[in-house]
Amino acid sequence: MKRISFLLVLLVSFSFGDVALLKNKVSNGRCFLLKSDTSGYVAFSGKRYKFFPTILDKSYAYYAIVPVNYYTKPHSDKLVTVTFEDEEKKYKTFRVKITDGKYKSERLRVNPKKAHFSKQAKIRIAREYKEAQKIYNTITPEAFWDRPFIFPMTTKITSPFGTKRLFNGSLKSYHSGTDFRAKTGTPIVSANDGQVVLVKKRFFAGNSVLVNYGEGIYLGYFHMSRFKVKKGDFVKQGQVLGLSGATGRVTGPHLHLGAKVWGVQVDPMQLIELLNQI
Ligand SMILES: [Zn+2]
Repeated sequence: MKRISFLLVLLVSFSFGDVALLKNKVSNGRCFLLKSDTSGYVAFSGKRYKFFPTILDKSYAYYAIVPVNYYTKPHSDKLVTVTFEDEEKKYKTFRVKITDGKYKSERLRVNPKKAHFSKQAKIRIAREYKEAQKIYNTITPEAFWDRPFIFPMTTKITSPFGTKRLFNGSLKSYHSGTDFRAKTGTPIVSANDGQVVLVKKRFFAGNSVLVNYGEGIYLGYFHMSRFKVKKGDFVKQGQVLGLSGATGRVTGPHLHLGAKVWGVQVDPMQLIELLNQI
């Protein structure tokens, strides 16, 4: 039903031109989806997002996923599409609204002793952050997948993306992914075909596997007890990446799934839903 209504939206929008926007309202930490008949890009908030071809769609259309940073405040904005037709540039402007994700809040009391990291730990945290950012900002101009995404686990979600973390009443951070209930040793599978770009024990995320799905889309699978893949491996959808665990800075075993689109952290559940509308 969802798919049918989406197609209707596209058909209606398509009568006005060759570029369509799925929804003109998106909350912070989530993504827009656009469709085009031809190649080109979307300009939003000072950055460009390429329309990429996909063979998932029988009409051989191009799609663009445009992420909205979590810390973006609600406001009216615009998406400008630039598409190429017979060597000619075509421009189209879509008025959009960035809404408040209405994420829940979590008040944390900080124990100064626990919040203090050693100099060595700080150096490690900075190095791991830099390494991950370099990966996320590497855009592979090709999608590795040609079928809808699946979830790495079908267990209960114990903590959704976006929960605000307030320290003494001020927003300091937020829950950067989706947590799935998983006792230690539960297989974690890849959401789609992709390439493993990092297999590493990290300070916060513990044993982590990052998979590049192409076109700027990355998923991270964290806190594993065991790895089942190596860096550089091409994995298939449903292939076991590792077993769940409680490595890194966690209070118990679970899977934390993170998502990045063109270097921007987004809600993995909404991203997968959106990709599956293609
Ligand atoms: Zn988490």
